[in-house]
Formats: sequence, structure tokens, C-alpha cells
Amino acid sequence: MTVLSCHGVRKVFGDQVVLDGLDLDVSEHEVVALIGASGSGKSTLLRCVNLLEELDDGTIHLDGEHITDPRVDPDKVRQRIGIVFQAYNLFPHMTVLENVTLAPVRVHGVPRTAARAQALEWLGRVGLADKAYAYPDRLSGGQQQRVAIVRALVNSPRLLLLDEVTSALDPELVGEVLSMIRDLKSDGVTMVLATHEMGFARQVADRVCFLDGGRVLEQGPPEQVFAEPAEARTRQFLSRII
Ligand code: ADP
Ligand code: MG
Repeated sequence: MTVLSCHGVRKVFGDQVVLDGLDLDVSEHEVVALIGASGSGKSTLLRCVNLLEELDDGTIHLDGEHITDPRVDPDKVRQRIGIVFQAYNLFPHMTVLENVTLAPVRVHGVPRTAARAQALEWLGRVGLADKAYAYPDRLSGGQQQRVAIVRALVNSPRLLLLDEVTSALDPELVGEVLSMIRDLKSDGVTMVLATHEMGFARQVADRVCFLDGGRVLEQGPPEQVFAEPAEARTRQFLSRII
């Protein structure tokens, strides 16, 4: 079953063509890692999928529904897609529980008690139950980012988008976030993650997509893309980064 289908996606900023007819399909339970040079359009693609950017051409389907149709309500779509960015953007004046339940209650109309129950269950699953009533400044960076991921999961989204979620963390805090993502994969969460952690992409991804020139230039299982890249551009990129 195909959860996400991007077809011919084009995105232009000024005179810069960032995405140039990009195609990408993601199956249910699949974990896809987007790799590519800085500026290759990984974040832009994730933002397009979450309807934070308007396409200049092409289509995106979620569970077969054409979500880039202008008649579609973006809030309804975002309810089905979780997204987490590089910097953990928790509200400092709210507790962990309030942070996690804010969007479901305020934006998506989930009853408060149901949202709290779901939030507490998720926090328990990721070992943060005892932090539910803490404020973000009492948490380590890794714990804050794990809360940000829980916040994205609490609606049980069909798709989780993770944009360089470990790159703002101190190296010793990266492991706990990566381990959480590995657990989510075991739980069957469908994910698209942009990452420059090749070791992690290799461990967790079912498929690695190398973005270059606004398209997926090369893709395949990590062992293939990393060990035997077919394209010269991929080899060049990997030789610089690994
Ligand atoms: P990546 O995440 O792969 O590093 P991005 O998607 O962030 O790449 O950026 C791709 C290109 O698009 C970059 O050159 C960036 O400067 C440009 N870009 C991204 N967002 C905007 C924007 N809102 N306005 C203008 N240019 C943008
Ligand atoms: Mg980026």
C-alpha cells in the first residue's frame, strides 16, 4: 500500500529551481532516508509534503488522496502527517503534556481528556512519563527532541516526516533520539527522514534516496547505495561526507 506519492514535484524560489520534477513513492511501514548536499531540497520536499509550501507543478497524494488539490483543507491533511524539525520547538511556558496536547485540542478538535490520555501513553512508551508535568527547560536536548517527536505522533499520523532531527543536539544526546526512531520503525511507523547521519540512514532506512539536481538521482537499499553507488554524483557526495 502506497502512503505517499509525489509525482513531478516542482518548487521554484525566485529563479532557483529547487525541486525539478521529483518523483517519490513511500509504502506503508517503509522508512525512507533523504540524503544529499546541503541545499539539495530535502527540507523543501518535506515542507511540500506537509503543505507548508505550495507546489509550482506536480502532485502529492496521501493514501491515494490528492492533497495538493487547492480545494483540500491543509489543516485536515496535516492532522494525518507529523513533522519534526531540526530545532526542538517546544513552547517554554508550557509543560511537556501541554506542548504535546496543544495541537490536537486546539487545532484538531480532539477532546482534552482523550488527547491527554494519548499523550501520556506515548510519553510512557518513549520513557518520558515522569516528565509530563515538567517544563522544557528541565529537560535535556535529547529529551526535548523526543517530546517534539511525541507531539508529532500523538494524532497517530499516517506519515512521520523528520528533518535533521539530531543535528542540533550535542553528540552524546544523538543516540537516544536515534534509538527512539528505531523503536518507531519497529512499531511500523511510516517515515521519511532527511539526514546527514549516513550511519543512521544505513541502520534504519529501508531505502535511501539521493537528491541531486532537484530530483531523486539514485535510490535503493542502503547497503546498495552506500556500498555500490551507481551514479558518479552519488559517489562524489558520499566520498565527501563519509
Ligand atoms: P536541504 O534541506 O537539502 O539543505 P533546502 O530544501 O533547505 O535544502 O533548500 C534548498 C534550496 O532552496 C536552498 O538553496 C535554499 O536556500 C532554498 N530555499 C529554501 N527555502 C526557501 C525560501 N523560503 N525562500 C527562498 N529560498 C529558499
Ligand atoms: Mg534541510
